[in-house]
Parts: sequence; structure tokens; C-alpha cells
Amino acid sequence: MEFNIFPPILLFMQVNFTRYGLYLLRWQASTPILAGVGIILISMGQVVSAIVANLIGGLIFFWVDRFIFTSQTLAAQWEVKENIVCTDCRKVSRGYRLVRADNYDRTDHEKPEFRCEECSQKKTKELRERGIKIE
Ligand SMILES: [Zn+2]
Repeated sequence: MEFNIFPPILLFMQVNFTRYGLYLLRWQASTPILAGVGIILISMGQVVSAIVANLIGGLIFFWVDRFIFTSQTLAAQWEVKENIVCTDCRKVSRGYRLVRADNYDRTDHEKPEFRCEECSQKKTKELRERGIKIE
């Protein structure tokens, strides 16, 4: 089974609201950590305290940010297959199937439905209108 993060139809920039939400939470988390470090180190002077606090923040949040922006568990997963018969228009072509998104999971679907690029775009629009979060 081959998983692609973005089929060609979704290459345009879209905001993944799960990542965006986590990123906003991460900013909230960084404030008390950096403020706390700053208070503990204030006797070293404001400049040194800020440098050390930012260094500690960087050491922690580099990894948090990397997870937020690159984790596959936060991304919609698509299965791409060659020579499928499109579920909607019966055309034989490369097919796409949304396997998993934030609030959608067809990982173990008994009869996976593949669609050609055109029908997949229509279906994606339909799923978005139903509230499925597809980046
Ligand atoms: Zn089709």
C-alpha cells in the first residue's frame, strides 16, 4: 500500500487547522517556560537571562515545532493506485482514496473506493462540506 501525503490535486497551499491549533498552543506553552526561566536567571542580568531563556526555548521548541510541521500523524493520508476503475465515472486511470484525516478513518475499509483525479476533487469538496478536515 503506497501512501502519499498530497495527491497532485492538493498541491496548492492550504492550512491544516490541526497543525495551526497545535502551533498556537505551543506558543502558549512557551510563554510560562520562558518567563519562568527568565525569573530564575534574572540575577544574571536581563540580557544574559533572555539569551539563556531563548536558548532553552530553542532547545525544546525546535523538536515541538518539527513535530507540528512534519508529523504524518497530523496529515491527511491518501492512497494512490494505478489503473483503477473510478467509483463514480467508471473511467480507468490513476486513482485516489482518502484513507485518513483528522476526523475520518477508512484505514480498514472492506471495499476501498478509488476515484479518478476529477471525481476525487469533487468528492474532496463534498467531504469538506460535510466537515471532514482535509488539508
Ligand atoms: Zn471519475
